[in-house]
Amino acid sequence: MNNSSILESPIEYLKGVGPLKGDMLRKELNIHTFGDLLNHFPLRHIDRTQINFIADINSNTDFIQVRGHIDEWQVLGVGRAKRLVAQLKDRTGNLELVWFQGANWIEKLLERRLEWLVYGKVSFFNNKPQMSHPEMEIAADINAEGKPFLEPIYPTTEKLKARGLNGRQIGKLVYNLLPQISLKDLPENIPLYFVDTLKLTPRLKAYGDIHYPPSQEYYQQALRRLKFEELFIAQIRHNITRIGRNRHSKGILFDSVGDLFNTFYEKYLPFTLTGAQKRVLKEIRQDTARGHQMNRLLQGDVGSGKTIVALLAMLLAADNGYQSCMMAPTEILAQQHFQGLSELLKDLPVEIRILTGSTKVKARRQILKELEEGEVQMVVGTHAVIEDKVKFRNLGLAIVDEQHRFGVAQRAKLWSKAAIPPHVLVMTATPIPRTLAMTAYGDLDYSVMDELPPGRQPITTIHRTDIHRMKVMEFVRTEIDKGRQIYVIYPLIEESEKMSYEDLMQGYEQVKTYFPEHKYKISMVHGRQPVEQKEENMRRFVSGETEIMVSTTVIEVGVNVPNASVMIIESSEKFGLSQLHQLRGRVGRGTEKSYCILLTGQKLSGDARERIKIMCATNDGFKIAEKDLELRGPGEIEGTRQSGALNFKLASLINDREMLEAAKLYAERLIEDDENIEKQENVPLKNYLLSIKGKTAWSKIS
Ligand code: ADP
Ligand code: MG
Repeated sequence: MNNSSILESPIEYLKGVGPLKGDMLRKELNIHTFGDLLNHFPLRHIDRTQINFIADINSNTDFIQVRGHIDEWQVLGVGRAKRLVAQLKDRTGNLELVWFQGANWIEKLLERRLEWLVYGKVSFFNNKPQMSHPEMEIAADINAEGKPFLEPIYPTTEKLKARGLNGRQIGKLVYNLLPQISLKDLPENIPLYFVDTLKLTPRLKAYGDIHYPPSQEYYQQALRRLKFEELFIAQIRHNITRIGRNRHSKGILFDSVGDLFNTFYEKYLPFTLTGAQKRVLKEIRQDTARGHQMNRLLQGDVGSGKTIVALLAMLLAADNGYQSCMMAPTEILAQQHFQGLSELLKDLPVEIRILTGSTKVKARRQILKELEEGEVQMVVGTHAVIEDKVKFRNLGLAIVDEQHRFGVAQRAKLWSKAAIPPHVLVMTATPIPRTLAMTAYGDLDYSVMDELPPGRQPITTIHRTDIHRMKVMEFVRTEIDKGRQIYVIYPLIEESEKMSYEDLMQGYEQVKTYFPEHKYKISMVHGRQPVEQKEENMRRFVSGETEIMVSTTVIEVGVNVPNASVMIIESSEKFGLSQLHQLRGRVGRGTEKSYCILLTGQKLSGDARERIKIMCATNDGFKIAEKDLELRGPGEIEGTRQSGALNFKLASLINDREMLEAAKLYAERLIEDDENIEKQENVPLKNYLLSIKGKTAWSKIS
């Protein structure tokens, strides 16, 4: 297309803008073109479509527009209390208008003795309605019926306001822009059969109505349409990415379930799988048997049993003659996995190794050789596993544990390890609300394990304030004396946060006074320690040499100490919900009754109170994640912070869940029916995608 759209015109060419304001709009609001302004949506609207009578005003009146004459006014008070008070009269009553500034200027206006249209917020003073600093317009200039549309008010900045572009003045610019825009600039981009079925406002009209709607009703319809468009296009793009990947990545075929898997399943599986585990396993089997690469995100709440699912998948790979690797975020966790898996596999003819930063040179050389020659089928480790030096004979499956932040770059590294990219399973215990997962990870397939193995004792969570610390410690002592281990957690130490470091040290001293060293052994772990020291302190706790772990949040991820049955979280009001839930997941992993005690100060903010309340009320990670999303908004949820996918202008992942589900459904339906988006009825969509090319993954399919 060479007849470029007016939407691309530089903003200073718009009537009422010019070079100076143009510059400000670019700097302050990132508005460069007519199109950018069109996509700068109003914050709210002022309803001046109605003209009321003064007698209509009652104690519920908020903003109102009335029409009348002003015959009397006077200046009252002196100094700061100086004000201009006027009486607006219509045939039903009187309304007092007040100005604290600009009295001279207003008086000049009033002297013209015209009929005024007055708009503002009503307040009551001695039971009498009053309006201060109302907006005034000459009634004769305005349609007698009031304005034909709601007036938009836009987001703006202090600097723009100073230059004559306040929230309302930006509206004047949009008002100048709208008549210039035609269907050619904003062609429909949602296939008409969806527009019809869903009763969506057509695109061009929706853009008009979101800025200058004839009524609230029209505004709501426009909003609904444009939100749906945002969500739908995002889902279409996810589908294109996924399909592109499937088509272009030949996947390794795991087409047989063989001896290793079957023998393990029948003879060595230490428990029956939960329904959720079976379901996920089935999904993995289907994924890996299609000849496409698997890219699956597995979300399972803490303790839901992801490891065994991973192991079974690794056995499946081995049965088909492929190697697999499993990556953990820390050395400790890698060790734990290695020990656990080795134990489970000890009677099977599979070789498994561990490879981490601390693997000794000689052993490392040996392992690298075995991997390259294919003598070893499985390797567990840290990121050391994907270093360039590590070569596999035929890597078929990579499992990434506890880090949904495992990025694109790291994935690419994996791909370079094999001619055909290995299947990837990313496991996380940080539940992500469904809406978020659908948008942030919409291009991945994902599974949810929302069921805990049977027989788990739910963790009892209680809230205590500081003054009860003594009692809490006494309770903890009885638990230790029964042979249990405990955690005491302090808020994260950041390099800069000297305070929290001191808190931790003080806390450590305090714990020691309750649990004297000659009787009790304490490990302390924090982020300022050298790695080796941290790991050593951790190891001593894991092995049971110490009974008490005083720590910052560094132990957050994955550690499994089934004998630890109590967790005390100090200053728990300082933690976010997801983090509290993650931490709590460190207890309740054994057969003993477990406790999580949330200590806080006396005074709590509303949000903190809410968080503590939820924690005490439920152990369900998904419920907690939803609540977290509600309290903090999507931008702040762990692991998705950088995701551009969440930058919707209009749609909200909290309030528009149903619409998101619908958008997903419709997008999938379309792609299923017309993978290349080439059918006649989908041409509008295709054209739109081409017009935003570069921002899409479109190139992969066309
Ligand atoms: P997570 O999902 O947090 O990684 P794990 O895989 O570490 O959970 O499992 C937690 C504990 O539950 C382990 O001790 C594991 O052996 C046990 N477990 C896993 N699946 C089952 C099951 N189906 N029945 C009973 N116990 C199970
Ligand atoms: Mg785990």
